Amino acid sequence: MPPGAGSDLRLHYNENTAGCSAAVLDALQSITREDMAIYPDYDAVTAKTARWLDVDPDWIRLTNGLDEGLYAVAQYGAAHADAGHASRRPQFVLPEPSFEMFEAFASVVRAELVRVPPEPDFRFPMTAVLDAVTPSTRVIYLVDPNNPTGLSLPEGLAETMAAAVPQALVLVDEAYADFSRRSLVGPALDRHRNLVVGRTFAKGHGLAGLRVGALVAHPQTMERLGAMLPPFNVNICGVRALEAALDDQSYLDWYVAQTTASKALVYEFCRTHDLTYWPSDANFVLVRFGDRAPALVGDMRERGFLVRDKSAAPGCAGCLRLTSGVVDHTRRTIAALEDCLAARAN
Ligand SMILES: *Cc1c(COP(=O)(O)O)cnc(C)c1O
Repeated sequence: MPPGAGSDLRLHYNENTAGCSAAVLDALQSITREDMAIYPDYDAVTAKTARWLDVDPDWIRLTNGLDEGLYAVAQYGAAHADAGHASRRPQFVLPEPSFEMFEAFASVVRAELVRVPPEPDFRFPMTAVLDAVTPSTRVIYLVDPNNPTGLSLPEGLAETMAAAVPQALVLVDEAYADFSRRSLVGPALDRHRNLVVGRTFAKGHGLAGLRVGALVAHPQTMERLGAMLPPFNVNICGVRALEAALDDQSYLDWYVAQTTASKALVYEFCRTHDLTYWPSDANFVLVRFGDRAPALVGDMRERGFLVRDKSAAPGCAGCLRLTSGVVDHTRRTIAALEDCLAARAN
């Protein structure tokens, strides 16, 4: 079987290993032929999502996955490049390690990506980030909790950044906020109109295949950011799925509890084998396996477990990222890891 096909346990994209709520399938099945034939209306779903996030509807825009929102942020940063110096390339600042997509989108809009390496143990390089800022800085990328480390940003950091760099949009990618149970959405976005929060329903709600995310910012900012998005960017299946997923809060709560229990099992495994790991506020754990990391990815794939090699990411030498979803899946994953480690030790 080719990698990623069929029955492999996919632990390499931080997807929901349980699938979406069954209520989502019911909602999709109730879509009529007439619904399919018309352009979607977003009023009801936007109001429901806004309520769930505890903001007014004009503070949010739904996106075709958060990725589309990140694309819009890059477009915005490039479009609002130095008015007085049109020839100057916009600069986007990226504290590393981070989510790969930022680099891809910065490159599409021909922005200069300014990378800031991590401090030891992934302490946030605040001074180095501020030192990297210039008058051409248009976007600063923050991820909270971060991917691939699972570490939350220090309290208040995003706000400090937004105040210090008013010429830039400060994006806080909260793809894993359902797991950390912490969000910047609230009064901070009113105090700092250059703050934008990204959310997705791919991870906690298990809608990765349907592509639904959201951007949240002050309405003034949202209006200009929203202009970077096509008018009918989320299809009717995404709309109905999101409504059903938000109505089934108990499913999300159940899944978050599964990930919490799974992470505890992974930590215990790490302590048993004397492996360095970082306590994660997301649905995955970064573990340092050292030189055996790349071979382990292959060994695990042969056993039907797909895990992500993050060795090449700054600060992540020898590290694998393991999605920690359904507890039963995690138990099987750990058993397979034990098996692989024992086989290599012989
Ligand atoms: C998974 C992920 C996304 C992408 O979310 P989609 O809604 O699937 O596009 C964005 N940011 C981070 C940090 C992620 O890990």
